[in-house]
Amino acid sequence: MMTPHSLRIGIAGITGRMGQGLVCSAREAGFIVTGGTCRQSGTKITGADPLMNNLRLVRNLSDLLADVDVIIDFTNVSTVVSHAETLAEAGVPWVLGTTGLTADDQRAVNAAADHIAVVQAANFSAGVTLVLRLAREMGAVLSGDRYDAEIVEMHHRQKVDAPSGTALAIGEAVAEGRGTSLAAVRVPAREGQCGVRQAGTIGFAALRGGQIVGEHKLIFTSATEQIELGHRAFDRRVFADGAVQAAKWVVFQAPGLYSMENVLGLA
Ligand code: NAD
Repeated sequence: MMTPHSLRIGIAGITGRMGQGLVCSAREAGFIVTGGTCRQSGTKITGADPLMNNLRLVRNLSDLLADVDVIIDFTNVSTVVSHAETLAEAGVPWVLGTTGLTADDQRAVNAAADHIAVVQAANFSAGVTLVLRLAREMGAVLSGDRYDAEIVEMHHRQKVDAPSGTALAIGEAVAEGRGTSLAAVRVPAREGQCGVRQAGTIGFAALRGGQIVGEHKLIFTSATEQIELGHRAFDRRVFADGAVQAAKWVVFQAPGLYSMENVLGLA
């Protein structure tokens, strides 16, 4: 049986902000990074960045699968359906961090999880995993008829989706705690004559600027008090380290869809 230290990792999106952190985290954990995918075929970065020396860069995920035990995937939502099909067919476990999935994308992930073990998280930090758990508990106690739940997030200027996957996951956790779904109570960004706030809804605000790695605040406000739960990531290595921890864990799991709560032994 494979030992964790012989783990061979392929990274989808290896030239990205997360991809480069993943190379560092995987190597620091003593694992082998065999190569990765990136959007531009023929990208040549060997030599420009010592981190990337001796790594195989390919356009298609299928070209990476011959010598990997697991794929860590932080790319773009447009890749999700094809990656789900490719990995399910090849039987390769999948750590999926890409955010902004549509319902169809999520269905493809769920279908892949019938064949392979998948860890999917909108945020791979241990801190946010705990925030999600607490958000569910707060939602259960702080009822929607008395406490207005709002989520504010801020990220770097290059982020392409809003609200962030983490903000949506926090909203989903609050909704779950209240025995409903986020789809039923979500209020999109407010602007203009948006009317008064409806009880039980969950609102979102997304700010963008500079190089902020990720900030989230969940705020419950009643007529008589306010409670805030916040998380601030200083370095995206926190996500990379969590994803590598998930990769080490997922290769020993049966097919299924898992969360970071499963990886951390909280669920
Ligand atoms: P980035 O733009 O810096 O990097 C994206 C990478 O994916 C690049 O290597 C790019 O070449 C590749 N790519 C993009 N489109 C592609 C396509 N169509 N086909 C193949 N490859 C493609 O982005 P990033 O900041 O590294 O973030 C990547 C994803 O990870 C985003 O969805 C982001 O929201 C998400 N993210 C998740 C977490 C988490 O903890 N789950 C944390 C940070 C970022």
